[in-house]
Amino acid sequence: MEIYKMKAHELRDMIKNKEIKVEEVVGAFIERISKVEGKLEAWLYIDEEKALVKAKELDKKIASGEELEGLWGIPVGIKDNISVKNMKNTCASKMLENYIAPYDAYVVSKIKEKHGIILGKLNMDEFGMGSSTENSAFKKTKNPWDLRKVPGGSSGGSAAAVASREVPLALGSDTGGSVRQPAAFCGVVGLKPTYGRVSRYGLTAFGSTLDQVGTFGADVEDCALLTEVISGFDRRDSTSANIPVPNYIQSLSKNLKGKKIGVPKELFCGNLQEEVTSAIREALGVLQDNGAEIRECSLPFIEYSLADYYIISSAEASSNLARFDGVRYGFRTKDAKTLEELYIKSRSEGFGEEVKRRIMLGTYVLSKGYYDAYYRKALKVRQLIKEDFKKVFKEFHAVISPTSPTIAFDFNEKSKDIMAMYSVDIYTVPINLAGLPAISVPCGFVKNLPVGLQIIGDYFKEDNLFNIAYSYEQSTQWHKKIPNI
Ligand code: GLN
Repeated sequence: MEIYKMKAHELRDMIKNKEIKVEEVVGAFIERISKVEGKLEAWLYIDEEKALVKAKELDKKIASGEELEGLWGIPVGIKDNISVKNMKNTCASKMLENYIAPYDAYVVSKIKEKHGIILGKLNMDEFGMGSSTENSAFKKTKNPWDLRKVPGGSSGGSAAAVASREVPLALGSDTGGSVRQPAAFCGVVGLKPTYGRVSRYGLTAFGSTLDQVGTFGADVEDCALLTEVISGFDRRDSTSANIPVPNYIQSLSKNLKGKKIGVPKELFCGNLQEEVTSAIREALGVLQDNGAEIRECSLPFIEYSLADYYIISSAEASSNLARFDGVRYGFRTKDAKTLEELYIKSRSEGFGEEVKRRIMLGTYVLSKGYYDAYYRKALKVRQLIKEDFKKVFKEFHAVISPTSPTIAFDFNEKSKDIMAMYSVDIYTVPINLAGLPAISVPCGFVKNLPVGLQIIGDYFKEDNLFNIAYSYEQSTQWHKKIPNI
């Protein structure tokens, strides 16, 4: 079989058994990139040379009998809002077009420590704001299943690169669905960990109480492998949880006996595409056949989550993005006469339309006259959404929903209709508001485009999610399909 078609865990085993060299693996993915990247446009920066040097270094260690553990030289792509030392970190914004990160994010240092090879940086919606990657200031990443469709967003580059096998593993970030939704649109596995499970040190902040770094893999085992590498306590992130990380690979069993899975009645309404509903219902049947007990549950406050998310995330974004002022770093306007003009022009010219919209909305809901009416109320609603989930998890091990109400859409289809674009996030944002973990796994195809099944778990129960997702995956064939690009 061709190298690029193989899963990360398969390649790792071959490297371990000395059946293949790291250099060959890295070379195969570089070659794959050179073949498809012209059509796909998933990367913003690639460092082939450094990757090959690193590969040779690891091959030497392996030849001398060293046990590398972890990633064994497997290439990884990184979303361009996660710092990799000496690589650009543009957040797909003109504001940071020439910014080079002076340090490694915690997750990146863990990947390096565990012998992963960083291939480069992946395209995204500017500062993570969007659901289609159309908001990148630099390029439009395509969906590898159909180049006329968007890959989802905001981690569209990461999802498209893994789906097209330009790279076996990738990192993204998920503030309101940006790992799970593009994973669903591109037919790969994507996990958003519990808030606090993975350090945010070195992740450019969007909504600090919502952001988590998440993982992409071509199957559940690959996703679990990368998640295990990046999870754990970091004293440089004050919200990082000091809770031991279980062995996720060990939780990959097909048996779901004793697992209670809830299906919220509120989730199967609204603008859910009919074919998506039937794919989810079929998936429920598979889970039941594997021993799970499926029952209806209720999340009454979930209908407010979209409004709640866009108030809270925009408020936090407006505060986080205040640091881009044209003075300290990033883009600076050429012709400002006064300090105030420098701020205004640098920000007007450096930020894209969607980022400016969020900053304005956020500033508005935090302003003196509207704070109580919008921001404070949104915080209260957030608490009610959390309590809904708490009640459900007293009874259930996991909750199921679609990842997205639709399959991948056309370019320009929703970019002019902001509400339509925002509503795509209906199933993913409640999870970030509650701080819970959730995974998206492929569960079918409609018109040759993938559908994603979202499995939501209780706090720090990622192992449960991997168990259920793996059980489902091993009973279906979706993870074996590769787009013909
Ligand atoms: N699509 C959502 C937004 O635009 C989520 C983004 C994200 O998770 N980074 O805010």
